[in-house]
Amino acid sequence: MACSKLDKKRKVDSENREFKKEWTDKYAFVLPAGSTKPMCLICNETVALVKSGNVKRHYESKHGHFEQNYPQNSEVRTRKISQMQASYQATRTMIVRSVQLKPHCEWHGSGKHKKPFTDAEIVKECMNEVAIALYEGTQKDDIIQKINPC
Ligand SMILES: [Zn+2]
Repeated sequence: MACSKLDKKRKVDSENREFKKEWTDKYAFVLPAGSTKPMCLICNETVALVKSGNVKRHYESKHGHFEQNYPQNSEVRTRKISQMQASYQATRTMIVRSVQLKPHCEWHGSGKHKKPFTDAEIVKECMNEVAIALYEGTQKDDIIQKINPC
């Protein structure tokens, strides 16, 4: 039948453009809410198109060490990926919350040392909280260093 071939092609095509939940376990990618670009949990880079080829290529070319340290289907990998997801979600939530709560946390410090927070400081403060809560050892230092470059 001529049309069954066509249907099959269309199905494959649309499957190719859908973010698959398994990519989170397989390639450490998530699809940020409201976005069409999958984001890598390891380096926070996004890939331009929802295509398993792009996601796979990014993971395999950039994160070979991750694959070695956290092999597919291992318990450490499951734990690591859910930790990265939690960290990512917490950061998002905190940024949203810090923007919503801005009038209440506009001042920090005490007495005459009070000074206003800028938006960037609020975000940085929240990111630091997340890093401190979720990471350990050198990884924590590394992340805090990245959040506070100077
Ligand atoms: Zn990456």
